[in-house]
Amino acid sequence: MDFSLTEEQVMFKETARKFAETEIAPLIHQMEETKRTPRELIKKMRDLSFYGIQYSPEYGGIGSTYLEYAMVIEELSRVYCSLGGHISVNCLCAGTINDFGTEEQKKKYLPQLLQGDAVGSFAFTEPSTGSDPGAIRTTCVRDGKDWIINGEKIFITNSSLPGYIVVFCKDVEKDNKITNIIVPKDAKGYSTPKLVEKLGMNGMEVADVILEDVRVPFENTTGGEAGRGKGFTMLTTEIAIGKLGISAECLGMAQGALDEAVKYAKERVQRGKPISNFQTIQWLLGEMSADVEAARYYTYATAYWKSQKKDILFDSARTRLFVSQACHRVVSNAMQVLGAFSYSKEFNVERIFRDMKLAEIYEGVNEIQRVMAAAGILR
Ligand SMILES: Cc1cc2nc3c(=O)[nH]c(=O)nc-3n(C[C@H](O)[C@H](O)[C@H](O)COP(=O)(O)OP(=O)(O)OC[C@H]3O[C@@H](n4cnc5c(N)ncnc54)[C@H](O)[C@@H]3O)c2cc1C
Repeated sequence: MDFSLTEEQVMFKETARKFAETEIAPLIHQMEETKRTPRELIKKMRDLSFYGIQYSPEYGGIGSTYLEYAMVIEELSRVYCSLGGHISVNCLCAGTINDFGTEEQKKKYLPQLLQGDAVGSFAFTEPSTGSDPGAIRTTCVRDGKDWIINGEKIFITNSSLPGYIVVFCKDVEKDNKITNIIVPKDAKGYSTPKLVEKLGMNGMEVADVILEDVRVPFENTTGGEAGRGKGFTMLTTEIAIGKLGISAECLGMAQGALDEAVKYAKERVQRGKPISNFQTIQWLLGEMSADVEAARYYTYATAYWKSQKKDILFDSARTRLFVSQACHRVVSNAMQVLGAFSYSKEFNVERIFRDMKLAEIYEGVNEIQRVMAAAGILR
């Protein structure tokens, strides 16, 4: 597989890197304090088309591939992973409509989601479950031409930002099979009472969602009548793409930690010489660079396969498993290189260490990724 980047891909990567360094970096402190995704950053990312990279121009995207998408997420996450997560989750919502919606739904919702005018969320997790699709309790019941939705979703990314949310519900009329419904976040009965207090990823807004007699037209059923009861397929298909996004987030964080460790190792002097002269530090940096490069090839390969329309269900599970663990190793090693300073908020590595842990948990814990990776070879 040849990953020599085209001129256009190099331009994408450089644009995202420059944007992250000049526009995101100065706002990190503010985001860490307020736990909000600044609206001005959303506007700027909209202007750069970061929300619609891999989608068709017919619906407001720019018609590039998942490789460009992964590169942009990588570059944003190298500086601040919360923004990579924010975009990746918007794509879970947009992707569900793009891949499973009716033509009318694509025309109505995608231009807003792909151009950053509306922010998308994807609501599966509930107080009782995050790993078992059969155990969700949120229900949708038909009432004339409408759905009435009741339930509670927890840990939902972007749910406090205006836009749309695709909600997975038990379809009572259909033997409790899972049906996905597009809900505007300003619908009566939809609320996000408070943001979740979390360890890291502070610039990515995450809130619990209450759905209390939320009434939306029946035509909001993702995929229309034919889409009813197909929620499980929608969930697994879109989460597979989500895991590609998380892999790119991990790659970016690992690269960011490596960059900081290299800089520090060259500057920090012990016993009269930079610590980069110590073989122990070289071992750490050598191992980190091997993990980063492996993570890059694995992530880009999965993005390439997805762009080739290959089913990446098992590939993305394996990739996310490996890349999230590689990222964990790299960031831990970076902490060793920086010594006590890695524990101080003065250096980015402290924050990356907190942000990185989520990648082993969300959109399916790594235990599930192991089960899926095994299922892929035991078939
Ligand atoms: C910051 C953040 C953002 C999130 N954003 C979203 C979002 O936008 N939308 C959304 O729907 N969810 C979101 N989530 C939820 C997340 O996807 C779930 O928390 C995750 O899938 C794990 O579910 P759980 O916590 O219920 O774990 P559980 O299912 O309770 O699992 C707990 C542990 O049990 C073990 N386990 C469980 N099931 C199995 C199994 N089948 N095989 C082997 N071991 C198993 C694992 O060790 C696992 O770690 C977010 C979570 C966080 C923290």
